[in-house]
Amino acid sequence: MSQRRNDPRTRNRSPRHFAIVGAGIAGVACARTLLQAGHRVTVFERAKTVGGRMASEATPFGRFDSGAQYFTVRDERFAKALETAGGICKRWSANLVRVLDPHGRVAEAALPSLEAHWVAQPGMDALVTVWAAPMAEHLVLDTQVRRIERDALDASRWQLRTEGEGDSSHVYSGFDAVLLAVPPSAARLLLGEGSVSTALAERIEPVRVAPCWTLMIAFPQASQPTLSYLGPQWNAARSTHHRIAWMARESSKPGRDRIERWTLQASAEWSAEHLRDDPQRVEAKLLRAFSEITGIRATPSFALARCWGEAKTQVPLGAPFLWDAKTGLGAAGDWCTGHRVEDAFLSGLQLALKVA
Ligand SMILES: Cc1cc2nc3c(=O)[nH]c(=O)nc-3n(C[C@H](O)[C@H](O)[C@H](O)COP(=O)(O)OP(=O)(O)OC[C@H]3O[C@@H](n4cnc5c(N)ncnc54)[C@H](O)[C@@H]3O)c2cc1C
Repeated sequence: MSQRRNDPRTRNRSPRHFAIVGAGIAGVACARTLLQAGHRVTVFERAKTVGGRMASEATPFGRFDSGAQYFTVRDERFAKALETAGGICKRWSANLVRVLDPHGRVAEAALPSLEAHWVAQPGMDALVTVWAAPMAEHLVLDTQVRRIERDALDASRWQLRTEGEGDSSHVYSGFDAVLLAVPPSAARLLLGEGSVSTALAERIEPVRVAPCWTLMIAFPQASQPTLSYLGPQWNAARSTHHRIAWMARESSKPGRDRIERWTLQASAEWSAEHLRDDPQRVEAKLLRAFSEITGIRATPSFALARCWGEAKTQVPLGAPFLWDAKTGLGAAGDWCTGHRVEDAFLSGLQLALKVA
């Protein structure tokens, strides 16, 4: 190992090799910033595609945004970055209402549109996909990082043990730093509950993120000319119904297939209570709630339930990112400051600017 590489005065100024775990918007924002600064980056992603919770589900009846429904833009840095997304983000006239359900009686109230709702086309995952495209050679998809450990050949660096398709395992070594852009439970696991970094593990410990059961349903029969409109006059609703917290008419989003279809999100409390239920049971309960709220009693031709173990931050970290310069370990994600797409982007960006 050269004297110069180990000298902290020169090491921080020369290009370094970063491992980034997670290719959601935080990981990809972090990676593209580090690449622009001239560093080497390898991004590991458990899934076959990038995007994380900005997920899109392709079905025979059109796409559903199974995770984030839309995003808002409050920070100039996010607005500037969106200009590099090739115009794939469009405003969605959500025509948002609040559905109140006191004592089982449903009432609707229009919600004032205080800020624009943006969506990527053709699905929410498209934004991260566009940003990740120029860095394809730096992405290792379908590969879960199982362990972070000191590099066997150079104890000042890190190596990652991974598991990929067909249980194939691999060791990637020679990283100057490892940045975790994963939800807090995955970050805790990778930090070995403290055995890899007590400092980081202790900071992440109090962070809490609620689960979310999501149901996607399609009514292709409603697209016939005679049945051209089904249900309420709004396209999205926040709800106080004891089961459902959010409903969105996917077919009303720009750049989507016109087949009538909805994404329903259960409340955090209901999702936590029903975490271990099987999808059929959840589907039946959420469908009943959906018909109570919307008056749509038709049986959907398609229904798909999925449970997000970690969806919406309840107790954030309270800092934009974590970085331990002594060990070369860091973390970013929406959970650092909030629960929104923009929070995740800013967290990844700020971590990169700190370590670049
Ligand atoms: C149901 C739902 C609805 C939402 N609605 C909205 C909304 O309307 N508006 C809004 O602004 N936000 C919304 N959000 C939140 C938004 O999706 C998140 O804030 C944002 O996408 C988080 O990005 P991230 O990069 O921090 O994390 P993620 O998107 O979770 O990315 C983390 C990535 O790490 C990968 N990973 C995890 N562990 C490992 C490992 N060991 N090895 C390799 N890879 C790993 C995961 O596969 C994932 O791709 C919603 C989220 C959910 C789930």
